[in-house]
Amino acid sequence: MHITDARHFLDDKGAIVPLRGRAKAMADFHAGVIACATKFDETGVTLPRCVKCKKGTVEAALAQDDAIVWHCPRCQAEGRISNWQGTLWDLSERPGAAS
Ligand SMILES: [Zn+2]
Repeated sequence: MHITDARHFLDDKGAIVPLRGRAKAMADFHAGVIACATKFDETGVTLPRCVKCKKGTVEAALAQDDAIVWHCPRCQAEGRISNWQGTLWDLSERPGAAS
């Protein structure tokens, strides 16, 4: 179980901190998971590839405590993302987001 705080990838102003290599891949992965969990029915938003096996397509959903949980059906990797609300990846409050 990967426990991630979304703010880990952001600076004080909410911008993505410069990352390279694996850290950047992890930031990109979590950005995709957050975007999908908050606006998963939007066309054009595709679930990211599993950060572990690179082949599975992860499933993301909001947990009852508002954390985002993701799960890879292929390798069974899973994780939780907290403190994602209000990040630039949070699509839930954008104009036009209502169905
Ligand atoms: Zn996987």
